[in-house]
Amino acid sequence: MRIVLLGGPGAGKGTQAMRLAEEFGIPHISTGAYFRDQLERETELGERIRVFMDTGSLVPDELTCEVVESRLKEPDCVRGYVLDGFPRSLPQARILDQLLAARGETLDVAIDLEVPDEEIIARLTARRTCPACGKIFNLKFDPPTSDGKRCDRTGCDGSLVTRADDTEETVRERIRIYHQTTEPIIKYYKERGLLHIVVEGALGPDEVFDKVEEVVHSLSRT
Ligand code: AMP
Repeated sequence: MRIVLLGGPGAGKGTQAMRLAEEFGIPHISTGAYFRDQLERETELGERIRVFMDTGSLVPDELTCEVVESRLKEPDCVRGYVLDGFPRSLPQARILDQLLAARGETLDVAIDLEVPDEEIIARLTARRTCPACGKIFNLKFDPPTSDGKRCDRTGCDGSLVTRADDTEETVRERIRIYHQTTEPIIKYYKERGLLHIVVEGALGPDEVFDKVEEVVHSLSRT
């Protein structure tokens, strides 16, 4: 299955992508996680993208697409993947189609996780991530079973951190960019018959996953 997860910042793409990847035995490819790792390791790419990441703006399309292109060539992508946070602009969506076409492949589905803006702000300022294994928690909606400071994933126990771009000011900027630059790709996938919308409303991550999983299972049965 080749799956794209769409949705604004804080829509739960990372959480749902991680679960889908486990369920279907395919890699979870997050451009955001890749870029954060480059920042932390202070690589040359990390230094080039720091200014974009810190202000909540998008890393330039060309750079982002190069990263995705080389990741999709890895052998673990032959059975499919979950793309989380990519594409994020119309040019990226078009380039992804070209990359796939060159390999004789197509996307199976684009799932859009819909959450109102005010909910996003509440969620993101309470978000904590485990840098060791990538698991995402929310102190309000999905807290770890421990004291709120450590990851409770079996065999992990990493110290939870707040992402540098989860401050309210940066979150507002990310939401603005989402509406301006990323939202148009919803129409792009709708026109291609690939779009499935999952309205989250007041649903928790488990209930959202039930819906997301049902969409993907129904496609794999056809
Ligand atoms: P995320 O973890 O998906 O919320 O991404 C965190 C940050 O990484 C974003 O605010 C952007 O600065 C950058 N980023 C991640 N994915 C992309 C992308 N597809 N295009 C451009 N920038 C991206």
